[in-house]
Amino acid sequence: MTATAPTIEVLRQHLIDPEICIRCNTCEETCPVDAVTHDSRNYVVDAAKCNFCNDCISPCPTGAIDNWRQVDRAAPYTLAEQLSWDSLPVQQALAAGTSAEMPTDVARITAVATAGQGGDVIPPWSAAQPCVNLYTVDRPAIATVSGNRRLTADGATSDIRHLVLDFGGAAFPVLEGQTIGILPPGVDAGGKPHRLRLYSVASPRDGERPRYNNLSLTVKRVTADHDGAPVAGVASNYLCDLNKGDEVRVVGPYGTTFLMPNHPGSSLLMVCTGTGSAPMRAMTERRRRRVALREGGTLMLFFGARSPGELPYFGPLQKLPGEFIDVNFAFSRVPGERRQYVQDRIRARGDDVARLLGDDNCYIYICGLKGMEKGVDEAFRDACRNHGKDWDALLPALRAQGRYHVETY
Ligand code: NAP
Repeated sequence: MTATAPTIEVLRQHLIDPEICIRCNTCEETCPVDAVTHDSRNYVVDAAKCNFCNDCISPCPTGAIDNWRQVDRAAPYTLAEQLSWDSLPVQQALAAGTSAEMPTDVARITAVATAGQGGDVIPPWSAAQPCVNLYTVDRPAIATVSGNRRLTADGATSDIRHLVLDFGGAAFPVLEGQTIGILPPGVDAGGKPHRLRLYSVASPRDGERPRYNNLSLTVKRVTADHDGAPVAGVASNYLCDLNKGDEVRVVGPYGTTFLMPNHPGSSLLMVCTGTGSAPMRAMTERRRRRVALREGGTLMLFFGARSPGELPYFGPLQKLPGEFIDVNFAFSRVPGERRQYVQDRIRARGDDVARLLGDDNCYIYICGLKGMEKGVDEAFRDACRNHGKDWDALLPALRAQGRYHVETY
């Protein structure tokens, strides 16, 4: 029988970032249960009093109030500890037996996926500190399926699903852009346990449903291999067929660079195809939930799919206001219409793309089919050339500044 990590009761502890806080007292005045207090040094939140009403979040002028750490409910950070901080502590591993070492499978898959960004890059300077490797193949977390809904239209050829996993009492903190590993049950043709498969998290850091310990994935049922020959993908079919209440073995989380910037005013230029939309959904939803804070910055999305019916999150994306996000769809197989790829749409929007590429506050994310890398690269080069910029000089600078992130399979 597979060993599982011992679970603890997890508390999402509300904390204030002492580095950003301007000590304006707004949070203390707003809190209806007197959970916020201060001394001459720091403003702090009493874990025993905070009822997660979030009344203090939007009035905070800096966002210092919107910080959270998953902790053992039996041992949250005390007021004395918080009052002594100069900066927030990094998220601690909560599960026993955690390791800083990335499993070989994950390292191999990640190396292939990020080859298009030129190997190792750094995360955005303001990205939150990610947790990695909290759960291993020997000690996976056990999640329970709390939702499994088809995203593609009834007549669509692909079955793409939005899967919600609930971690109950197990701490599984993730950031937008991170991936998790799924361990399908059973053994392969050689009699060995199936290898783990990686999926990008599609929900923001506070969960698919805020204040629930859950996350979501975007999973396409694989029915053919790269050459079109029929094949049933082991993990994708397992996940797509799961029912509410089923248990899933999960490892990770993984990923320390494909992360979003946290600073107000930062912009996101996102390019994806198909289920490569998962991290873009997570980042967009993070920003949508903070829209009342008026942090500024532009969101621009290029999203490629065969047709509207094959496109994950098509309905919700269409409902987002243009002033919040600039969405550009590219459909390649709509009968009677010219084939459009994301790179065609990037060229058509060359003015805005060139402006964002040249903006030090804009971070670029590309996720989906490996085949699109070349086309996107050429479209960026064209946009730059038409606006007096040199893409070949700009790209290394983007990588060095943690502004260019690629995950393609
Ligand atoms: P898909 O439906 O096969 O294709 C999506 C769109 O991309 C189609 O319009 C397709 O056009 C177009 N396309 C094909 N080749 C292209 C190229 N060279 N340049 C630009 N566009 C091109 O996509 P999918 O099956 O969902 O694949 C998504 C990829 O994302 C997979 O490789 C998956 O592994 C990866 N991914 C998934 C996750 C996740 O969490 N699920 C996360 C990260 C990445 P055509 O009509 O020509 O085919």
